[in-house]
Amino acid sequence: MTKWVWSGLATRVRTTRYPARQDGSGGVSPGFPAGRVLAPGDPGAVVERCPTGALQRRGGRIDVDQRRCVHCYRCAHGEDALDWAPGYEWAAATAESVRTAGMTQPAAGSERAAGQAVRLGRAFARSVHIRVVDAGDCGACLHEVKQLANPYYNAHRLGFFFTPTPRHADILIVVGPGTDQMRTALEKTYRAMPAPRRVIAVGACALSGGVFGPSFACADGVRSIIPVDIEVPGNPPPPFAILHALLVATGRAASADWAAATAWAASVEGTALPGQGYARPDGLPPEERGA
Ligand code: SF4
Repeated sequence: MTKWVWSGLATRVRTTRYPARQDGSGGVSPGFPAGRVLAPGDPGAVVERCPTGALQRRGGRIDVDQRRCVHCYRCAHGEDALDWAPGYEWAAATAESVRTAGMTQPAAGSERAAGQAVRLGRAFARSVHIRVVDAGDCGACLHEVKQLANPYYNAHRLGFFFTPTPRHADILIVVGPGTDQMRTALEKTYRAMPAPRRVIAVGACALSGGVFGPSFACADGVRSIIPVDIEVPGNPPPPFAILHALLVATGRAASADWAAATAWAASVEGTALPGQGYARPDGLPPEERGA
């Protein structure tokens, strides 16, 4: 232990300055594939390499559905590879968080309204307790969530604390696609939390089922079981993206803009994946989803 402390002091490893300052340290984020305009004669063959249907041709361009991207890097290689955009502030308020706050659906791009709906309020500015539920996670997203407590990210300095009981929790972080074995536990955890409560879904599996769902064993994401207020794409998302979600939940950062940009995916023909349409049991009844 003593050796570890002296080693840390000697190498000047310090806690990040984020969110006061953006963190550009190497390796803090893989970035995200960016869409592109299709040049004349470009068939957009890179779309066929995507295993989850996250890439789609729309009009004269290729768009990326961040909710489905599992960061496999298949689109990052080859002559027709996509460029990747840097950054990590990916957390976005969901349309459902707007509806449950009694607001009308915001127009595309007006994510500020969604951000206001999702905030917990001033009383939670510096003391927020978080319960984490593993709903069938492979371990990757859970590992990134755990990093928030290490000396580099040090979420405690921002007033974020982990709690082992949902009865003390203001925010529920869920990782994994929502397996049938975890469905009841997830519903019970949500019901046990006092209001106001917010739910953050972390990772592609929690957002869309990823490569696992919907299937005979799991849902197509957490929001088919409980309401989700903030979504964090990525597979896994880096700790900064999860920290950004917590800041959005407490009104200390703006929601990302990708949700409106990728809302088209559900309505575009041919985007359904094998297994979609599989009959799933309903999640919480409507009267409980709005609490
Ligand atoms: S990195 Fe994402 S968008 Fe690119 S091929 Fe893999 S899943 Fe599809």
